[in-house]
Amino acid sequence: MAAFKLLRKSTDIQGLLNTECVAGLNYAIKSGLFLQIVHIPRPLHWVLVQGTAENTKHTVNVYDSLYLEPLSGLREQVAALLRAPSFLFKITYVWCPKQLDGFSCGIHAIANATEIIFNQTSYSQENWSWNIKEMRKHFTTCLENGLMTPFPKKRINNPRQVPSTSSFEIEIFCICRQPDLSESIYLPKRGYLNWIQCTNVNCKNWFHNQCVGILDKDLEKWDGKKFICPQCSEGICL
Ligand SMILES: [Zn+2]
Ligand SMILES: [Zn+2]
Repeated sequence: MAAFKLLRKSTDIQGLLNTECVAGLNYAIKSGLFLQIVHIPRPLHWVLVQGTAENTKHTVNVYDSLYLEPLSGLREQVAALLRAPSFLFKITYVWCPKQLDGFSCGIHAIANATEIIFNQTSYSQENWSWNIKEMRKHFTTCLENGLMTPFPKKRINNPRQVPSTSSFEIEIFCICRQPDLSESIYLPKRGYLNWIQCTNVNCKNWFHNQCVGILDKDLEKWDGKKFICPQCSEGICL
């Protein structure tokens, strides 16, 4: 997307990858500061994810103009971005202007990404909104000029349009470091839903059989047998 290229020109922050690479959950590993616009296919939605300096604790900020709870698509994509070697990661929703229609989440995500690059402190005040009427015109001008600049804002009188910041802890598993995939919208078939447990008493972690190279049809053969996970085999058990 042209907007990401222009934003990358304005900052040396990591991320801002083409959202197409999300489809196969093939993100590069990210740590520290990054910005990534994430496309959630169902329900169709765009949100902005920000890796923070606290990312060593596997925390990301989310700017969601609809303030939806973390959907399966978002949880999986953040997991793919972080591949966190921990048992969970945390998604924190940061205040941002709320969209008032059902279709402008994409331009809100781009406007938020631009604003964070230029004026991160804007998000500590909750008394402004995007100037919706001017947003698309501004975006077109940015594309024409080959330069992203902050989107027009307006002050609002009733400060809080959305609930205050809220956090969600997402449990992750297996060598893929993904959350529960039972609601996954990306997996083409019902793979990655069966589990095998490491029999090492110090580990006992659960793995998708597919991720550790065991076919679904062979799973029964492993019942009650010793299974040492790849992490224990390499001595890097979590
Ligand atoms: Zn897995
Ligand atoms: Zn193990």
